[in-house]
Amino acid sequence: MGKLLRVAAIPGDGIGKEVMPEGLRVVQAAATRFDIDLSVEHIEWASCDYYAATGSMMPSNWKSQLQSMDAIYFGAVGWPATVPDHISLWGSLLKFRREFDQYINLRPVRLFEGVPCPLSNRKPGDINYFVVRENTEGEYTNLGGVMYPGTDREIVIQESVYSRYGADRVLKYAFELAAGRERKHLTVATKSNGIAISMPWWDSRADAVGDNYPTVAVDKQHIDILSARFVLQPGRFDVVVASNLFGDILSDLGPATTGTIGLAPSANLNPERNFPSLFEPVHGSAPDIYGKGIANPIAMIWSGALMLDFLGHRQAHDAILRAIEAVLRDGPHTPDLGGKASTEQIGRAIEQLV
Ligand code: ATP
Ligand code: MG
Repeated sequence: MGKLLRVAAIPGDGIGKEVMPEGLRVVQAAATRFDIDLSVEHIEWASCDYYAATGSMMPSNWKSQLQSMDAIYFGAVGWPATVPDHISLWGSLLKFRREFDQYINLRPVRLFEGVPCPLSNRKPGDINYFVVRENTEGEYTNLGGVMYPGTDREIVIQESVYSRYGADRVLKYAFELAAGRERKHLTVATKSNGIAISMPWWDSRADAVGDNYPTVAVDKQHIDILSARFVLQPGRFDVVVASNLFGDILSDLGPATTGTIGLAPSANLNPERNFPSLFEPVHGSAPDIYGKGIANPIAMIWSGALMLDFLGHRQAHDAILRAIEAVLRDGPHTPDLGGKASTEQIGRAIEQLV
């Protein structure tokens, strides 16, 4: 056994509470198989139930409770019927992202055999890439304001902010990721033909950081044509890096081309490991199917595989991915994939194969 890994498991709301046990079931099976010393701390807060009981989403000492963890394994947050999304989201997930400096949002995009693809004529190996989104700066700032509000002369300004520190670190992460992959190809999303100050600068930072990665082939693409190619030529992509807004859009578009939202995983990373990173499915709490036991747990399980990979256990990650592949190919399937299986049946089927 190696070093003890401590994971905080936060199911959150809605189907987060249904997919979490299946995620943990598979993560723990992989830990046993690969001799990983794993301790899981179950946390009930960061949920709308906790908010209903206490009036806040998290206890005031949440940071000290989580700070020493190696990772946060997160289900879903939000229950709009009782708590507005801006309270639930800003009171939990977005606090983690900011306070734990999770400046990388990573989303693998992969088409699996057995999953209907919304694009025609696509085979499984055709779509297999990562979207790396800058998660802390860029277009998402509160800088700006409204002049002459309510009049015909109304003017709105919203600034984008990039720092060399912020751009270089996400570009470096993306180059590292690409350098470690077979194809060693990095697409840099830009719009330097239209956004005339920040985007040419972003391109120049990509050149500067890329000087350290001579083995990686770089392709700068304007965001408009890049988006079209996600649909028309997804086989072009290996690793894609983008600013906060462009990355936000691409990281929804990519997974949408590979079938159900019930499969898409994500990671919010602090690669230096100064703080815990967070692993969660892309989907939300899905109030419309909560309580039926039919949510697809694969996005949660795959997020768990990403967590083990990040924590240094690539083999455990690969074993989980092979088990997911087999279950998607041969069944059973949940209703979002046209089957009749329950959340738990899928979790158990994957556990058996890990
Ligand atoms: P968000 O929480 O991202 O703001 P939302 O709450 O509207 O958005 P989701 O909770 O992801 O979005 O649900 C969107 C749709 O996808 C719903 O119809 C939901 O039932 C379905 N869905 C989401 N996750 C799953 C899953 N794991 N398995 C099956 N269906 C799912
Ligand atoms: Mg939601």
